Amino acid sequence: MTHTPTSTRQPYAYTRRTLTEPDWTRYPGWRHITRDQWESAQWQRAHCIKNIRQLHHVLGPLADDTFYDDLATDQARTATMPMLLPPQMLNTMVPHGPTTTDALRADPIRRYMLPLHTDRIPDHPLSTRDSLHEHDMWAAEGLTHRYPTKVLAELTATCPQYCGHCTRMDLVGTNTPAVTKLKLTLTPADRHDAHLHYLRHHPEVRDIVVSGGDLANIPWPRLETYLMRLLDLDTIRDIRLATKALAALPQHWLQPHIVEGLERVARTAARRGVNLALHTHVNHAQTLTPLVARATHTALAAGIRDVRNQGVLLRGINDTADDLLDLCFALQGEAGILPYYLYLCDMIPGAEHWRLPLHHAQTLQHDILGYLPGYATPRIVCDVPYVGKRWVHMAAAYDRVLGISHWTKNYRTPLTDDTVTTGYPYYDPIDTLPEKGRAHWATRC
Ligand code: SF4
Repeated sequence: MTHTPTSTRQPYAYTRRTLTEPDWTRYPGWRHITRDQWESAQWQRAHCIKNIRQLHHVLGPLADDTFYDDLATDQARTATMPMLLPPQMLNTMVPHGPTTTDALRADPIRRYMLPLHTDRIPDHPLSTRDSLHEHDMWAAEGLTHRYPTKVLAELTATCPQYCGHCTRMDLVGTNTPAVTKLKLTLTPADRHDAHLHYLRHHPEVRDIVVSGGDLANIPWPRLETYLMRLLDLDTIRDIRLATKALAALPQHWLQPHIVEGLERVARTAARRGVNLALHTHVNHAQTLTPLVARATHTALAAGIRDVRNQGVLLRGINDTADDLLDLCFALQGEAGILPYYLYLCDMIPGAEHWRLPLHHAQTLQHDILGYLPGYATPRIVCDVPYVGKRWVHMAAAYDRVLGISHWTKNYRTPLTDDTVTTGYPYYDPIDTLPEKGRAHWATRC
């Protein structure tokens, strides 16, 4: 008796797929762009798409007026983030063509980097700006102390790209018609001094996520000075550098002066026994191209100990086990990036259509186990307001009809002085609830 190999009968059939750089000359506006131009960080920055006129210049008739009008309506009425898209990122939409309005509407990268008005649905009544209360927990401007031993430093409020679902929509990016942003008020030098002062007086903090915004928007000498000052503190043992640009604008991280700077910082970190890592943000395998892999391997060769991915689970974008396994195998096997976390999309305004119910995330966590090496199987987590990251199977109680889960925590935070005993709620998107649950919320909307 012959057996069909089990690999061909698995729910997910793994086959190795090497990365490819989509041909940018398929777009009318980039027909004459050379490889040298494409691989230049300056050219990429100078040709970022900031408005519909520029998008039209690149895509021309590949998208029709209904698409541009839908985008314009979103920008004018509902967008929480301004439009900013490096060519590298736009080139990963409908990567192998043909580019049409329908293909663009359905494309996973388009769905979160160029949101359309018709994508959106009404907000959850309990969604809020700064839903994680990071600003409320600032120990100094831009320094959130939420966990016992860890802090988050927001050094800049800008990025080279703006994601529609940005959890820091309260602070990051320029104002949109729908959202006036919070502003950082200190000069960078004063902000850095305030962070260092706090860290010197809080030796219990051993781990710092240096973020923004995106570190790729900080002039390198200023960032290097900040990192070297952190490395002067014996108490700091982990430094994690957060940059989506590693994937969205890898040209930035390939510039010789950046690579040389990374080498200096990595050498100092190694000498002092500090774990220095890069964290990036990739939500779909389409984002990963040979240039992203080159930037990652360059950072690793410069002495960065690890490059890890923190993606966001987004409805209609990466909400199947196949989507996630494709992403993880491309990260782990091709790009040199460790699949680390996948977050449920936070409860911010304008994000309801991207959010998934908790039970869906639990199913996804179940369905992706067993395919990747254990250390490279991402944990799917819910960032629960007033609590922090919790693995999706850790809910203490869950009412699937009303879409309300309850969570506990095991440490004190500046905003809540209790520990394990109190349940904190989190909410599923209302349109995914059964009729009785939707009727419940209809009285509150
Ligand atoms: S790169 Fe990060 S901080 Fe910047 S817009 Fe995207 S999610 Fe927000």
